[in-house]
Amino acid sequence: MRPFDRGVPERRVCSMRCRGCYHRHLLMQPDFLIIGAGVAGLRAAVELASAGSVLVVAKESLRESSSEYAQGGIAVALSDDDEVELHERDTLSAGDGLCDRAAVRALVREGPAAIRQLIDWGAEFDREGCKLAFSREAAHSRNRILHAQGDSTGREIARALYSKAASLPGVTLRSYSSISDLLLDGDGVAGALLNGEPVRARAVLLATGGLGRVFLHTTNPDVATGDGVAMAYRAGAEIQDIEFVQFHPTALHLPGAPCFLLSEALRGEGAQLRNTAGDRFMERYHPLREMAPRDVVARAIVSEMAATGAPHVLLDLSHRDAGFVRARFPRIYRTCLRYGVDLETQAAPVAPAAHYAMGGVRTGLDGRTSLPRLYAAGEVACTGVHGANRLASNSLLEAVVFGARAARAMLSQSSAEPRGPFTVLPEPPAAPTAENPALAGIRTMAWRCCGIIREAAGLAEACRLLETSAPSPEVRNLHAVVALIARCALAREESRGAHFRSDFPEKRGRVALHSIVQRDGEVRFR
Ligand SMILES: Cc1cc2nc3c(=O)[nH]c(=O)nc-3n(C[C@H](O)[C@H](O)[C@H](O)COP(=O)(O)OP(=O)(O)OC[C@H]3O[C@@H](n4cnc5c(N)ncnc54)[C@H](O)[C@@H]3O)c2cc1C
Repeated sequence: MRPFDRGVPERRVCSMRCRGCYHRHLLMQPDFLIIGAGVAGLRAAVELASAGSVLVVAKESLRESSSEYAQGGIAVALSDDDEVELHERDTLSAGDGLCDRAAVRALVREGPAAIRQLIDWGAEFDREGCKLAFSREAAHSRNRILHAQGDSTGREIARALYSKAASLPGVTLRSYSSISDLLLDGDGVAGALLNGEPVRARAVLLATGGLGRVFLHTTNPDVATGDGVAMAYRAGAEIQDIEFVQFHPTALHLPGAPCFLLSEALRGEGAQLRNTAGDRFMERYHPLREMAPRDVVARAIVSEMAATGAPHVLLDLSHRDAGFVRARFPRIYRTCLRYGVDLETQAAPVAPAAHYAMGGVRTGLDGRTSLPRLYAAGEVACTGVHGANRLASNSLLEAVVFGARAARAMLSQSSAEPRGPFTVLPEPPAAPTAENPALAGIRTMAWRCCGIIREAAGLAEACRLLETSAPSPEVRNLHAVVALIARCALAREESRGAHFRSDFPEKRGRVALHSIVQRDGEVRFR
């Protein structure tokens, strides 16, 4: 068992080997503050460690992040028959006209070196003999998905990055350390409020991950409540393309079971979708059948569920040889079995669930946001890499490549002292609670009005309901994020990528425009 698997001392890990003593100065005034300990935050920490003290904070345990749950793999053009230009073309095609070409180019070109570096740092990807094993996922024209322990890819990358970061002097990782707001000084971001106390830093990186938890049904862990987007918006940063939310077609749908993701890689290995009447329906919706783009598959499933009146369809891999599912997807197999479904012999009931945010805090290629000294990387950021729809398995790569890029840009901030005094934003710090009734109301409304199939009346209703301020501090981030999604989805009168409007089912205009929201709340397209 490796160190990360053995569990880490959760309260405080001081990599200067002086556990037990409290480096208050380092903790409350680090050079660099990284909010989030997923792949993006950890990758940035490694890059920054040589330039000063780095504090990495996580809202819950260090292991509770989307990175930990990422199953299918990480896309990279490294196989013998692949080329970065093909990876670039597939990414642009999935993004449906809205990708930033320069960002995509940076992703695919820097991807191979970034993966080799992860391997140097101890990440163990699955191999066939001594060669890396590549699998295929939907909309990839080549086998280019690396995986680890079958279906624990994110966990393995996070483990390697954690070990690397924790071995570097000056990196401090703190769990159960919730940031409620950014702190501003005269001309930019000067720190953040950590468990209610101000932390000052020369540069702050938002690496808070996604926002799936604002929806009733999601594959995302509890921490994915869009805090980074909400905090950045409150502080005045620009938010881009936030209406683009990817709904994964196949999450386990069983009473009493978690909304556990059944990776696209299962369909890549031949899993078939059937409705509850036994009909293999995808051929009626798309020539690529089960390997059609995710949004097409998700809408097809919604349509089949409506036609049959069932709350799910079925995902079936039982035709593969005995032992195949267990060996190729050990984690998925074990989880389904725990809830009574043996994937070797049975089909699993599945339904779509919110999965990935393509939009977020608007950044340039180096992670800079529109606010001085505030950077963003990983799922919270909108670099433009994913456009209107993410190509499967590109997000871990984005977190690695752009986590490093943002950190390199933050280094230039290292000598500039923040000016102070702080301006603390007026609302009180949020105390996250899972079972707040207002939370359930917002999540249900988000699913109903801003879900897979949207139309003006539902979106306008959501906007109206969210016009007032949040009913309690605990739900203010969800409230803010859903309001942003609803407003931008209402303003985008077209269907593109993952954003589907039943009242505007076609794409609009020859040039795709980004939606951008600034502090005044107006949605502008440019
Ligand atoms: C089930 C599942 C399967 C997936 N499979 C794949 C896959 O196969 N391939 C792929 O490329 N992508 C996959 N993804 C997407 C991918 O995992 C994420 O996009 C990526 O891991 C995001 O990394 P991140 O570092 O940006 O955020 P995360 O890994 O989510 O980390 C976010 C961090 O921010 C912290 N945080 C949040 N809010 C606060 C706050 N207020 N204060 C302090 N800390 C805070 C959290 O505690 C956490 O440490 C999957 C996602 C899920 C949910």
